[in-house]
Amino acid sequence: MTRTTIHTDGAWRDALNGETRDVLDPADGRPFAVVAEGGAADADAAVAAARAAFDSGVWPGTPVAERAALLRRVAELLVRDREELALLESRDAGKTLEEGRVDVDCVADAFRYFADLVLAEGPGRVVDAGSDTVHSVVVHEPVGVCAMITPWNYPLLQASWKIAPAVAAGNTFVVKPSEITPLSTVALIALLAEAGLPNGVANLVTGPGHTVGARLAEHPDVDLVSFTGGLTSGVKVAQAAAPGVKKVALELGGKNPNVVFADACETEEGFDTAVDQALNAAFMHSGQVCSAGSRLIVEESVRERFVAELSRRAARIKLGRGTEKDVECGPLVSRAQLERTEEYVASALAEGAVLRSGGRRPEPSATRSADGYFYEPTVLDRCNRRMRVIREEIFGPVLTVETFRTEDEAVALANDTEYGLAGAVWTADAARARRVAGRLRHGTVWINDFHPYLPQAEWGGFGKSGVGRELGPSGLAEYRETKHVYQNLAPRPVRWFSG
Ligand code: NAD
Repeated sequence: MTRTTIHTDGAWRDALNGETRDVLDPADGRPFAVVAEGGAADADAAVAAARAAFDSGVWPGTPVAERAALLRRVAELLVRDREELALLESRDAGKTLEEGRVDVDCVADAFRYFADLVLAEGPGRVVDAGSDTVHSVVVHEPVGVCAMITPWNYPLLQASWKIAPAVAAGNTFVVKPSEITPLSTVALIALLAEAGLPNGVANLVTGPGHTVGARLAEHPDVDLVSFTGGLTSGVKVAQAAAPGVKKVALELGGKNPNVVFADACETEEGFDTAVDQALNAAFMHSGQVCSAGSRLIVEESVRERFVAELSRRAARIKLGRGTEKDVECGPLVSRAQLERTEEYVASALAEGAVLRSGGRRPEPSATRSADGYFYEPTVLDRCNRRMRVIREEIFGPVLTVETFRTEDEAVALANDTEYGLAGAVWTADAARARRVAGRLRHGTVWINDFHPYLPQAEWGGFGKSGVGRELGPSGLAEYRETKHVYQNLAPRPVRWFSG
């Protein structure tokens, strides 16, 4: 990967100040790529390019069918480059190759979905004004220049959930990927150019949040800021955007409950499925998933059997470099994330949690790496709501266990969080499933499942998990202004004033 990773007005270039950053492979902590370390001046240049492209009308004025065709071409190019992109994502973010492939497939789906949606929604709707001499329509228009700031856990996916609807709606944009995992976003911007997006529509600045991200959030020529990341940064972005009264969309963290009723475990098959999915909910991508099922809330009568089996299986998860065959879980993304996880586990043990599995870095022989940021999948039993591990997002491979005796208690525990991104309920009782799902204050609720999402269904959070929605019709609406055009076909004086 070259260091010319800043893209403005159709050209690739270095950072204006010439600075660069090494991109580290989390499986061994060694640099494997170099990118431009942009700053506020690069953000300004990118916004200027996006502003000029928007104001020229080159993209907002492009017919919707052509915009949709471009999105479909991007989907085809993603499929063409699937292996390359999956490998990039695996080395950069530490995920397994298979996870990387799934991400690319989901991203291609999102581009196809927004292509279909923008065509299906048409130019707007005619409103019945109650008069033959009035023609009244409500139309959708692009918001303008969009700034997009994305995190390191799903770099390609998170950027695409913003870029696909923004481009479909006719906006121009500047994207700033996480400084830790910028590579797949660089590749995506190259694909957009290859697909024929006019110069200046898609702009990219690689660089840190406190400089590039902060400048984009406050920039007077930015009309909308869409941010995915942690709560603390999200609040800063909202504050920076407020004086300009920009539109702001925030996709923030989660502390997601996975509620298991005893009746889900009555058959062997039911028990096996619930344990298996609890494992997947908590440890996929080493728990670095905003919707990770990091809080297991299990009915007291099955707790011991459930946690014993879960811990047994957690200890068998094969850790290693994501690109190696048979590896099931990669490293954490950075040393900081590894140390943060260790600190949380230590705090839980000091507060009385019981370690059932993991709780340490693996032996180097287990991962064939002495310097990678690996941490064993960890199960902490006998947790309670006063513990930090229950209240705060860890973003590591740590599953906490709480128990309940009644349905009300289960719901109260599941809702006892400042977040509200996602949650699941496991039960064999269909009526209970619907009841509990209805009472959960989370943006996505799974019944007898965990993690699947659909591009046609909205994604986002209640509470401090965010503002706005991605995907689905609302995900397109975020990038649109709505305009009412009222046409009087027979204008006459109204004589409101007598003079
Ligand atoms: P982060 O908040 O540290 O960084 C996210 C992005 O914001 C990065 O690009 C960073 O450079 C930038 N940034 C940091 N400070 C900024 C500032 N002051 N102004 C502007 N930009 C700034 O988050 P992270 O550690 O990269 O990602 C993990 C977090 O993302 C977790 O909390 C996770 O739950 C959340 N997340 C949420 C979703 C969702 O859909 N809700 C999806 C993925 C990740």
